[in-house]
Amino acid sequence: MFPSINWNKCTHCGECIPVCPENIFFFDYDGLMAYHNSYKCVGCNQCSEACPEDAIEFEDYDD
Ligand code: SF4
Ligand code: SF4
Repeated sequence: MFPSINWNKCTHCGECIPVCPENIFFFDYDGLMAYHNSYKCVGCNQCSEACPEDAIEFEDYDD
């Protein structure tokens, strides 16, 4: 599984950044939340639970 951000919902609040044990989320140079290395996702669900906008969903690599 890997995280998929609904950019129509994301407010770039950054709540997802500190909770991810794999440091997948970060602020880019413009101060906007971005993510990388999503293959490292362990599916712990902490990011989606932390997101106040319900903007994080998950997709399977098999899809
Ligand atoms: S917690 Fe949700 S709204 Fe905030 S930056 Fe992350 S995905 Fe966007
Ligand atoms: S499910 Fe866990 S490991 Fe995957 S992106 Fe969210 S916080 Fe990070």
